Amino acid sequence: MRILKRSLLPFIIIIIITLGGCATIDISALTADDHQYGQTRDEQKLIDRAVRFNEDLTRKGLILQDSEVQRYIDRVGENLVPPMAADAVEFEFYVFRDPVVNAFALPDGSIYLTVGLLTRMENEAQLAHVLSHEVAHVILRHGLKQHRSHRAGMISSHIADLVLFGTSIAYIPYITSMASYSREQEEEADRMALDLMSNAGYKLASAYQLFAIIQEIKDTESVKGSIWGSHPSNVQRAEYTKQIVDSGAVAGNPEGRVGRAEYQHIRSELIIENIKLKLGVKQYELALDSIDAALKESPASPWLYYYRGEAYRRLGDDPKGAAREHAWVYGKKYGDDLVREFENRHKEFYTAARKSYEKALSVDTDFAHGYRGLGLLSYQRGDYKVAREALEFYLSHGRDIRDKRYINNILNRMDKP
Ligand SMILES: [Zn+2]
Repeated sequence: MRILKRSLLPFIIIIIITLGGCATIDISALTADDHQYGQTRDEQKLIDRAVRFNEDLTRKGLILQDSEVQRYIDRVGENLVPPMAADAVEFEFYVFRDPVVNAFALPDGSIYLTVGLLTRMENEAQLAHVLSHEVAHVILRHGLKQHRSHRAGMISSHIADLVLFGTSIAYIPYITSMASYSREQEEEADRMALDLMSNAGYKLASAYQLFAIIQEIKDTESVKGSIWGSHPSNVQRAEYTKQIVDSGAVAGNPEGRVGRAEYQHIRSELIIENIKLKLGVKQYELALDSIDAALKESPASPWLYYYRGEAYRRLGDDPKGAAREHAWVYGKKYGDDLVREFENRHKEFYTAARKSYEKALSVDTDFAHGYRGLGLLSYQRGDYKVAREALEFYLSHGRDIRDKRYINNILNRMDKP
């Protein structure tokens, strides 16, 4: 007996070395019988951290509060979670008010999709795919495995790494400490995602179509390096996903659910939100891109013209911010020369802004926000007569006005000689 043990020793050492010293082999999936979720101190710590993260986002208003969108995402998400996993963890689905393209899952079962990602997808099956992938990370307890393997800080490929301009920038270290996974884990989640989608009756081909859409997104609009960012690995993901689907390894119905009409309805609700978020983080040119794309689908939306006006007005008002965004998007050098270029274009921007507000009013003559835009533009240009008329019209005709005090202050300022 003793001899046998001794002869096994080198073998055991080799195994430990190949596993990289990680104690991850005995972490079972949440679909197993005795998963013991949350019963170790380190996992409990990860769960607590995730709960605090969510409280923080909620306090700061970064979770979208839209009951229709929420109901829809909940319905799609809950339908994907296997009953065993739902017994183990309470899955919650959140829309993160961030215009960058990203999605992530935390060890407590919280799953976040950004507004930026939701406006890029085309149908419910694609949404189901993203949600399934994130649900799979939770079921497979990738966060804990990653934590125990002490490699979280070393993985460079899939770390959410937002350089600039996103709402989520402050949260990156937090998110990466709980949701950065190895390439193998990403592949494992992709494979399980197909099973979850198939069980819920979705058309599996939607999964690899999504990767093609993500591939077209500008790097600057996604969280760099995140698995849902524009990343070379998305080409490989599309390939191996297609291979699995074509091989028939996952029982799927080729006529499965796609859910385009329902998704498009929800998406149209989110497009304006996404544009507002972009303007809020000084993404003027990127907002214009989104507006132009949306106008192709809804050419009679006064709101889209209004926000086009807003984007141009701010390009005129904020040459430094505009130059910084431009340098970032197009990989140019930010400096005085570029700022001056934008300063010199302010007339062009203000003209485009005025035309956009006028277009909004030509689509809908009573559209109060069109007057708001024209009023503020005229005020900035010193044309007080037009400004006063337009802003007063806005105050008296607008519905649900939230900036009454701001507008009144401007009206008062114009009264002073
Ligand atoms: Zn992932």
